[in-house]
Amino acid sequence: MGNFLVYALDYQGAFNKNSLGAVSEGARLAAETGGECHAIVVGEGITDELAGSLGAYGATKVLRVDGPSGLAQPVVDAMAAAVAGGSYGTALFGGGLLGFEVGAGLAARLGAGVAMEVTAVRAEGGKIVAERPILGDSAISQIEFRSPVGIIIARLNAFEIRESGAGPATVEDLEVGFSDFSRRAQMVTRGEQRGADVDIEGADVLVAGGRGLGSAEGFALCEDLASAFGGSSAVAATRAVVDAGWFPYAGQIGQTGKTVAPKLYIAAGISGAIQHKVGMQASENIVAINKDSNAPIFEFSDLGVVGDLHKILPKLTEAVKAKKGG
Ligand SMILES: Cc1cc2nc3c(=O)[nH]c(=O)nc-3n(C[C@H](O)[C@H](O)[C@H](O)COP(=O)(O)OP(=O)(O)OC[C@H]3O[C@@H](n4cnc5c(N)ncnc54)[C@H](O)[C@@H]3O)c2cc1C
Repeated sequence: MGNFLVYALDYQGAFNKNSLGAVSEGARLAAETGGECHAIVVGEGITDELAGSLGAYGATKVLRVDGPSGLAQPVVDAMAAAVAGGSYGTALFGGGLLGFEVGAGLAARLGAGVAMEVTAVRAEGGKIVAERPILGDSAISQIEFRSPVGIIIARLNAFEIRESGAGPATVEDLEVGFSDFSRRAQMVTRGEQRGADVDIEGADVLVAGGRGLGSAEGFALCEDLASAFGGSSAVAATRAVVDAGWFPYAGQIGQTGKTVAPKLYIAAGISGAIQHKVGMQASENIVAINKDSNAPIFEFSDLGVVGDLHKILPKLTEAVKAKKGG
């Protein structure tokens, strides 16, 4: 069945939570199948300490590649070089745009099978089986691989982060000859459009606003509610309002925006178009506020409130503040 190779993305001295989830999942599968879970990191100046810290999530070895960070093609080169050694049966990625890009690139490079938006993985009958929800999450497809290496790209937040209690992983430097085309793009700068404190994909609570807010100023209602929740909460938006210039693209959820899976997703004045749904349907709890009782969003909400958001949001904000204060 082979070992597991997991791509881990670091930024500003820490690994992102989807990478840690993927390493934890790789370690769990490796323990079950008698293999090993190795992580691969690509970047400039990644310290022994940072790379080795993946040991705490179950990686026994970390392959460290000195190269451009945050770009997909150099990672594809690095992973293809690692896989060429022949010991890996599965390449695993946490959710997120870079994981999708690298995973797809690696599949093309290796001619390997790829399963995307995977929500669970298991070992069965000597094979790895990936589960992928289909048809708007109404059915689950079971995917096995015929290629020597199977590529699995998780849905955002699909894998739980588990600390194994183990010490630092062994760090091994891997020399990679990057393809010419991999060096043609250069990361000029990286950052959040709305300030480093806003992490839409990592937030536990998202208050998302749609056209029902009526204007850009309407977003103040969402901001107030998000700050009442405090902690890991943020404001997000539909494409309709981003296109209208009411909110920055960095906060757009959906097919052409980000995919999120917070603990709580509050959709205010959002109709629930399929292109929006695909970006937030994996949220643990969905609360929708819409004045139209026939709005499609109510079909996939856990709690639906029919009414005017301009009246409901301020009351909800007060209630959250009162609860927090009490
Ligand atoms: C190729 C493609 C890609 C797309 N990608 C995305 C994407 O990534 N993300 C995305 O979001 N969309 C995307 N869309 C657009 C998508 O189809 C919808 O048009 C969009 O999601 C609608 O946004 P909305 O819900 O804010 O607006 P609307 O559909 O106009 O809905 C507004 C809702 O607010 C309610 N409302 C109005 N006033 C109030 C009030 N006072 N109180 C309470 N409720 C009120 C209305 O009843 C209505 O249901 C894409 C479309 C295409 C074709």
